[in-house]
Amino acid sequence: MRIVLLGAPGAGKGTQCKRIVARYRLLHLSSGDILRTDRAADTELGRKAGSYMDSGALVPDKIIVEMMTEQIKKAADDGFILDGFPRTVNQAEELDKSLASIGRKIDIVLNLKIDDRLVAARMTGRRSCPQCGAVYHIENLKPDVEGVCDNDGAELVQRPDDSPEVVANRLENYHLQTEPVVDYYKNNSTVYDIDANKNADEVSTLIDDLLLTSAPKTENRGPNVSEGSIVNSK
Ligand SMILES: [Zn+2]
Repeated sequence: MRIVLLGAPGAGKGTQCKRIVARYRLLHLSSGDILRTDRAADTELGRKAGSYMDSGALVPDKIIVEMMTEQIKKAADDGFILDGFPRTVNQAEELDKSLASIGRKIDIVLNLKIDDRLVAARMTGRRSCPQCGAVYHIENLKPDVEGVCDNDGAELVQRPDDSPEVVANRLENYHLQTEPVVDYYKNNSTVYDIDANKNADEVSTLIDDLLLTSAPKTENRGPNVSEGSIVNSK
């Protein structure tokens, strides 16, 4: 299985990705991790990416796609899941070209769909301990004493990333840049919309049901099997 996991910030991509990787023994490819690894290993691509990052610029899509493709080649015939990538239609197009050149394609796109209001509540309700890094939530994961860390008694804070302004900004970027990636994939991969308003265990069950029923198709792909999209809106 070659999977792309998409979804808004706060939709639970990280949690679901870990579970999918453990359950199906897929190679986990995160663009952030690969950038860090390539830089640390001082590969040619790592140096190129580094020169952009050091000057505060975004790393061009071509370089990120090349890095991902290198890792995908190493995966040989094993399956993989892409996490946090592609973020834009341009990256998705570049990735497809690159995969096609080594005779591969993305089979399945899992799209975690969640209401903006729920994302905002999840993220802006987070409170973190500046001492030990513990994370709480004002509704779902309260400390014993309001506003105080259970571990060390430090006063909890809202990280800048979780402020309403930053969360609204990230959601807007997601709708503008990443949501169109879902439509892009509808042309030649199987796209599953998953209701991520549910809790993490329920979402895992939905994903398992989809992957277990779709896995054989990737082994024996007929002309009609992979076309179009299957939408599970409930
Ligand atoms: Zn603490």
